[in-house]
Amino acid sequence: MVFPKPASESDLFLHSNFASRYARDSLPRFCMPQDSMPKESAYQNIHDELQLDAIPKLNLASFVTTSMEEECNKLIMESINKNYVDMDEYPITTDLHNRCVNMIARMFHAEIGENENAIGAGTVGSSEAIMLAGLAFKKKWQNKRKAEGKPYDKPNLVTGSNVQVCWEKFARYFEVELREVEVREGYYVMDPAKAVEMVDDNTICVAAILGSTYNGEFEDVKLLNDLLLEKNKQTGWDTPIHVDAASGGFIAPFLYPELEWDFRLPLVKSINVSGHKYGLVYAGIGWVIWRTKDDLPEDLVFHINYLGADQPTFTLNFSKGSSQIIAQYYQLIRLGQEGYRSIMENCRENAMVLKEDLEKSGRFNILSKDDGVPVVAFSLKDRSEYDEFKISEMLRRHGWIVPAYPMPPAAQHINVLRVVIRAEFSRTLAERLVFDIHSVLDELDKIHPPKVTKITAEENEATVDSGFKNTLTALDLRREIISQESNKRQKITVA
Ligand SMILES: *Cc1c(COP(=O)(O)O)cnc(C)c1O
Repeated sequence: MVFPKPASESDLFLHSNFASRYARDSLPRFCMPQDSMPKESAYQNIHDELQLDAIPKLNLASFVTTSMEEECNKLIMESINKNYVDMDEYPITTDLHNRCVNMIARMFHAEIGENENAIGAGTVGSSEAIMLAGLAFKKKWQNKRKAEGKPYDKPNLVTGSNVQVCWEKFARYFEVELREVEVREGYYVMDPAKAVEMVDDNTICVAAILGSTYNGEFEDVKLLNDLLLEKNKQTGWDTPIHVDAASGGFIAPFLYPELEWDFRLPLVKSINVSGHKYGLVYAGIGWVIWRTKDDLPEDLVFHINYLGADQPTFTLNFSKGSSQIIAQYYQLIRLGQEGYRSIMENCRENAMVLKEDLEKSGRFNILSKDDGVPVVAFSLKDRSEYDEFKISEMLRRHGWIVPAYPMPPAAQHINVLRVVIRAEFSRTLAERLVFDIHSVLDELDKIHPPKVTKITAEENEATVDSGFKNTLTALDLRREIISQESNKRQKITVA
């Protein structure tokens, strides 16, 4: 190890990082530096550079939680040095994990006895949860095909083309053909009837999404279940369903308790949910829950000895932090059903405020549903002068991250702007966002006046003739009017 030698007296780190050479040298990029640097300078320089990242709370592109209570932050820091995989050494952490699995499984109506442990696992997020659920289906299907003496080398999985990218990952990494039901204009989720048509005897499962990533819409799991039951009866197959409830798993139980989408439906064998989305924990936690022990093939489970008892594990990764699991337990017991319900209701109401204000402007089509995950997805009615990408880019200048993206194949000519309403997105922020969307529209209208109000050659002549020559062109005048109109619009929306 080479220790740092100050180059000169003035370079000594005496009082301030900004008086030292660390404020004028660039930070290493490619090679680990020979010498150490003072911890204050390392902190200051990294901290300052990170200021250029977006502000997480204003990142409306993401479902992922950006704010937790101080008490929970404290628990997180207290357990940041615990490796979750050391179950023998940290038995309490393991126990908290199992309590979370039990609570979430019951929230999804798993059929388990009062004191019985549910079957499930904490993961890094829904993606890992989906890999595990997909593997379980693939294994089960293969085992069955082997037992029947049938080929088992061409498994497929049926979803809508609106699936989140992690399903494509699963398909590619674990060699399963992905059969996608195409969405269409005006209907942006999987059509259950078409999905069931695509099922054959090589189908390991149909994956339904509770909360489509594109517009938050719930897919009709009940209808899928009924149609698939019928098909299974006719064919003698037993094609199961997985529900990707990454975003909706903590919404539906509180906002739509009567909606049957979970283990109340007999073909639903596993469900994933992101703890770090509406589970209200920072990034790094997801859950996969199986209906019963029989739905998780034994050959995927590793058994470790934990306090003399058997602790089954089935995750892809070995080491990982414990904090997120502990934070999830904190949220479940701190908020309880009452707290989760109130938060989800607030999210829904704030989504409505935003949606109604956008509708009132007359400029947008709303592509999200009132029932579903609280997101507002909207597209421009008139895209002739500027598009959704331009609006997204301009909102960024106000600090907001509102992504624009095309809808899935077959509806990809439609672009949407999507705002995810999270717990930390309050009414004040919703109103401020609407205000800023209107400012952006006004700015854009000034640069590109909407076609309908464009000046015709005749109009231009007329105005010029009536004495505006050389002072104000007709176009300027029209812009002035548009600008006044949009000011009026702004005032209505923020009142
Ligand atoms: C977010 C999301 C995922 C991926 O979940 P992570 O927790 O980010 O890994 C999968 N499916 C859907 C529907 C999602 O919304």
